Amino acid sequence: MNAPEHAQVHAPVHHPLVVAVDGPAGSGKSSVSKAVARELGFGFLDTGAAYRAFAWHVEASGIDTDDEASVTACLPSFDYRIGTDPAGYAVHVGSTDVTLAIREPHISSIVSRVARVPAVRHHLIEVFRAHIADERRPGIVVEGRDITTVVAPDAAVRILLTASEEVRIARRSAELVDVPESMTGEQLRRRDEADSKVVDFMNAADGVTTVDSTELDFDGTVAAVIGVIRSLSAVTG
Ligand code: C5P
Repeated sequence: MNAPEHAQVHAPVHHPLVVAVDGPAGSGKSSVSKAVARELGFGFLDTGAAYRAFAWHVEASGIDTDDEASVTACLPSFDYRIGTDPAGYAVHVGSTDVTLAIREPHISSIVSRVARVPAVRHHLIEVFRAHIADERRPGIVVEGRDITTVVAPDAAVRILLTASEEVRIARRSAELVDVPESMTGEQLRRRDEADSKVVDFMNAADGVTTVDSTELDFDGTVAAVIGVIRSLSAVTG
């Protein structure tokens, strides 16, 4: 007998293994998380890029980033796209590729102002959760400030990636060769101070594993994070 025309076929629900990584500026979260995702064949979601892209959009719309009501009013026109492929990572706002523009020190200096607005956080948290649910690879590494505590508190693996302030400033300065180290240090300190008023990413919440990269090089940090993932999940290889 033929199945009724409108018989529903239910595909098995796919639940990617979620690896949540939080940490302060310059801890190496983004580059380490991306390398971990590549090595394990997982997706990668850089949530800071969304806050940066929104800050870019607010400014491009001619809005004062300190005006909370006007910042919130920019949300409906925020047409934001980011891929989760760790090898082909690009960020778009509308038709503009903002992948490089959102890394400018100017965006770093204003992003905390828009990230502290509750409506902005609420909106982006839902966007991140939708990305996680849509992931078709076996897992996804999601990095930011409130992933282990707010975005994905039930993640199978939750990591706080830290490093001493001195080492974080030195690493960030090495990336920004045209900017004096004292300026980079001042900006990083100010951003961490502003961001920690909104979420605590300096102390590991219950059940979160701390990986301190102060004494580790890049490969050593990637290996340490993969070690934590393997010890807490069935990921092998
Ligand atoms: O990680 P990144 O330095 O790119 O983050 C840029 C900014 O986005 C942070 O300084 C913070 O203001 C905001 N952010 C956040 N919550 C996250 C990720 C980033 O508030 N989960």
